[in-house]
Amino acid sequence: MATPARSDAQRNILVLGASFAGISTAHYLLKHYIPKLPNSSSYRIVLVSPSLHAMCRQACPRALISDHFFDQSKLFVSISDQFKQYPKENFLFLQGAVTAISTTETVAFHSLIVATGASTPSPLFGFNSGDKDSLRAGWEPFRKALPSAKKIVIAGGGPAGIETAAELGEYFNGRAGLFSKSKQNVEITVVCGAERILPALRPGLANKAEKMLAKLGVTVVKSIRVFELEPAGAGEDFDKLTSRATIRLNNGQDIDADLYIPATGAQPNTSFLPSHLLGADGRIMVNSQTFRVPDIARLYAIGDCSAAFRPAVHNIAAAIPTLAANINRDLLIAEGTQTNIPDDREFKEDTRETQMVPIGTKGGVGAFMGWAFPSWAVWLLKGRDYWLWTTPALWSGKQWNKAS
Ligand SMILES: Cc1cc2nc3c(=O)[nH]c(=O)nc-3n(C[C@H](O)[C@H](O)[C@H](O)COP(=O)(O)OP(=O)(O)OC[C@H]3O[C@@H](n4cnc5c(N)ncnc54)[C@H](O)[C@@H]3O)c2cc1C
Repeated sequence: MATPARSDAQRNILVLGASFAGISTAHYLLKHYIPKLPNSSSYRIVLVSPSLHAMCRQACPRALISDHFFDQSKLFVSISDQFKQYPKENFLFLQGAVTAISTTETVAFHSLIVATGASTPSPLFGFNSGDKDSLRAGWEPFRKALPSAKKIVIAGGGPAGIETAAELGEYFNGRAGLFSKSKQNVEITVVCGAERILPALRPGLANKAEKMLAKLGVTVVKSIRVFELEPAGAGEDFDKLTSRATIRLNNGQDIDADLYIPATGAQPNTSFLPSHLLGADGRIMVNSQTFRVPDIARLYAIGDCSAAFRPAVHNIAAAIPTLAANINRDLLIAEGTQTNIPDDREFKEDTRETQMVPIGTKGGVGAFMGWAFPSWAVWLLKGRDYWLWTTPALWSGKQWNKAS
């Protein structure tokens, strides 16, 4: 690991990854701290991303079916456009993916914030390490394969798997009426390894979700895991995204699928970092109160690439002011000219039950800060547009106009 490089002419604050964590960190620093630093014009936020766009990843379970569900200009937004509001000397966007952090970096950094997120096994659920074109390169064949699919298997009983099953169920099978069943044009099965789906929610809400799924023609099998796939890589590799697959379960049963979608755990994008900085699950080990990586000056990690808190956008949003304040404090200490250094700030995750899970376009299950929400409220907050109403303020930085 390199020692942060110090150049009096230019102090690069390198932010790796331009999604919820990286973009918000950059805006917060540019709005509240960079302008007030001594030698302000020497500080430059360098935001690095393989993609020219930011996207509302949460919308993928519906967006992957068709473009007509969302205004595409809101779903994907240009990253550079969001930063035109700041002085040129304070901001630079670089398109690219960091492949290694070593003593031979080509961009010397004064501070480094790692916000590279996590990749899903299925390339249908976000940019992973690619961009808008690579996401679309997955959506296109998947959409073409939908009309001829008769059996779809989804692995994973977390929100991404359940939401995707519900969207596909509603799309193919319609909704059951009060006294009638859904059409069941397409057999959709969710294979859930745990005893119940949606483990972040109380059992009553998970049961309610299962009943809602049944009305969309979705079957859930629980306490069963996918053991093997034939062909290997089905649903994961681009060339096998729409392969017919045989899914071998750990109870010895085989099920066939025209389409297989792995919606199981995401892997942190951290392979470019030395292994001693990572935990067993590949996430960066940070101080979960300050977001500093221990023992390395001005190195921080935030969001799904780090072990600081559970992966969720509301946790990232809550953490940004603390991270930015601590970066500012460390920059002032490094400047060495200021006597009035602000105190360290400490973050504490709110661990109360909070998760919204739309079940199709009309309702869902969810809870916020420990309070169960009715189906219509889940629709209002998330299900009607999968949070797209919230992302313009995040991407543009408007959300961070006021310091907190
Ligand atoms: C299908 C789905 C639905 C979800 N729904 C919700 C929800 O409803 N509510 C909620 O709170 N959370 C939800 N989440 C989780 C939420 O999306 C994540 O918590 C959030 O995206 C994490 O943001 P991030 O900025 O840490 O990382 P990411 O959003 O993963 O972004 C990381 C960025 O870093 C880039 N990158 C990767 N490698 C490199 C590299 N080597 N160098 C430079 N850049 C790199 C990536 O291209 C990407 O742009 C969902 C996740 C999925 C997959």
